[in-house]
Amino acid sequence: MHLRTFIKDSADLFRISAAGACPMIYKVISKTEFRKFIDALVKHNTAYGPRQVDTGSGGKPIYQFRPVTSADEIDFDYTVTHSSAKHFFLPFRDELSRFSFEDGNWEQEVRYEAPPLILIGLRPCDISAINMLDEVMLHGPYPSPYYLARRKNTFIIGMDHLPLPDCFCKSMNRHTVNHGFNLFCSDIGDKYYLSINSSKAYSFLKEFMLEEPSYEDNCLLIERRKMIKHSFETNIEVTGLPVFLDIEFDSPIWQKWGDKCLSCGSCAMVCPTCYCYSVEERFDIDLKGSSRQNHLYSCNLVDFAQVAGGHNFRPRNGDRLKYRYYHHYRGFAANDNQQICVGCNRCGRACLADINPKDVINDLRLERESCMICVSPSPDRT
Ligand code: SF4
Ligand code: SF4
Repeated sequence: MHLRTFIKDSADLFRISAAGACPMIYKVISKTEFRKFIDALVKHNTAYGPRQVDTGSGGKPIYQFRPVTSADEIDFDYTVTHSSAKHFFLPFRDELSRFSFEDGNWEQEVRYEAPPLILIGLRPCDISAINMLDEVMLHGPYPSPYYLARRKNTFIIGMDHLPLPDCFCKSMNRHTVNHGFNLFCSDIGDKYYLSINSSKAYSFLKEFMLEEPSYEDNCLLIERRKMIKHSFETNIEVTGLPVFLDIEFDSPIWQKWGDKCLSCGSCAMVCPTCYCYSVEERFDIDLKGSSRQNHLYSCNLVDFAQVAGGHNFRPRNGDRLKYRYYHHYRGFAANDNQQICVGCNRCGRACLADINPKDVINDLRLERESCMICVSPSPDRT
């Protein structure tokens, strides 16, 4: 199916997910009724929800978004998924076009296919991350029709949660979200407080028993939000961080952490906002066709900045690690007035070398503070 058809078919889904495109409608629904709604929704649609897939160190469950066909299969009280939801929009490997060669001629086929998809249970930081990807993939200088097709045809149901001890999304102001979803559910005991941000979600829900929020429901929602806000155990001071990073560009701290880094790229793979990719041409074995594909890449990988002729602009681990931090906390702040990290700490949990944003940023701040109380000032940097 071509992009234009998709836009037409999915216009409702997209309009409703755009910021401020239509007024939010608030309702409450019992959890029992909500499960019926999910059952009906996933019965005839491709849907993914959080499911426990394994057990990690210390017996902690590991969750991932997996296909679901009923509410019973969904772990509604999950914590966070190991991988982010970005892969539904930016698959690890994506075919951009196919070429076929026949009798001296060639043809190119480009397809923007994105079957309807329902994502259930995304956390506020996950949805914020998708909103940031929208900025890059839809509103940047080179909008991606592949991303657009998927984004428009995906119905997102968000759910709030209490943070894990290492989540720092409050520091990044991403612990709440008010756009980018079709429906958002706040847990207020035996009911969900629903924020309906989509005419499609509203028409689906009309078949079920909804109530107007009562005074008590509103109080429960405010209490719930307060409880979430005060449950964060990890905080990172990000005020003035872009300027601070400018000052610390030559800091030995980068090499210190770089020496620990294994250059495995796991941090970027699980990160909901890392979108760097590489492009490959793959030829069929009979040389009658080829496929142009992009695949997600990581700036921590050793050949990320290597160019034709073999020169590598960032051969040192520390420089590559620094680059990733500058992209997340410096470059975007300068270009788009926001930092692209949402504070989920997936990168920290996935890192076998125990490198995480909180420790790296705190280390830089500590170094700067000790420098400022030093008797002899640092030499000027040029
Ligand atoms: S950099 Fe780390 S904490 Fe920030 S969004 Fe990516 S995975 Fe989450
Ligand atoms: S996951 Fe850790 S070790 Fe691997 S590239 Fe990222 S920072 Fe380096």
